[in-house]
Amino acid sequence: MNNRRLPSLTPEQCGSRILDAKCIVAFTGAGISTAAGIPDFRGPNGLYTTGKYNADKVFEIDYFHKHPEMFYEFSRDFIQILKKIQPTITHRFLARLESEDLLTGVITQNIDTLHHRAGSINIAEVHGSYWSASCLSCNQFIKNGATLDWWEEQMTQSPRSPVVLCPHCGGIIKPDVVFFGEPVRDLDKAETMIKSCDLLLVLGSSLTVYPAALLPQLTSASTIVVNQGDVMISFRQDMYFILSDLDAFFKKVIDFIDS
Ligand SMILES: [Zn+2]
Repeated sequence: MNNRRLPSLTPEQCGSRILDAKCIVAFTGAGISTAAGIPDFRGPNGLYTTGKYNADKVFEIDYFHKHPEMFYEFSRDFIQILKKIQPTITHRFLARLESEDLLTGVITQNIDTLHHRAGSINIAEVHGSYWSASCLSCNQFIKNGATLDWWEEQMTQSPRSPVVLCPHCGGIIKPDVVFFGEPVRDLDKAETMIKSCDLLLVLGSSLTVYPAALLPQLTSASTIVVNQGDVMISFRQDMYFILSDLDAFFKKVIDFIDS
């Protein structure tokens, strides 16, 4: 549907609704991280386009089992990119709302760990992320809170092995990123969060990747959608659409809240 027909809100109106809410939940997609400088993987200088990796296979689970070294080659580059960037104004604003007990949690489709780095605590990562890691052989949970420094250390500690190996059994460690061919994560947690919120913020997602895209349909709560392009969402009462760059919009919302 063309959601540009939905009513819009000014930053001041959005700020008022945020201050009036008691349990906000945010659902975020790639658009919240673009402003941080995460390159479009398929763009002109994207990690997929340089020809260094086989783009169709980097996140393919069957291929990972056979050739984990290609995913790790990709990850070495990706971790270096992540180290150079910082969470955006919008990431930090969501963390602030959580610290002020206005926001219950964040549901994200992103694997980049920027919500963790911004200070968010309660995060449902439906596509997983680099924030934790497990061993594929002994199924041991290896690390929770896997920072970029931790990954870098693991990767340089095993310079002769192209992949990171389990300290318990020598098996291959995989970050808990959801690959193609794997089930999504945290879905129950995300559903509980969505069903109990009184204000839903849908930020930087076109809602075209399933099943995550169905989550925002699970509430009848007041919903504010902010994105730079169209969003696949069914119209319901008390739903608003703001066609905007996230940081530009939320900078004004923050100015209003702090004034
Ligand atoms: Zn193991």
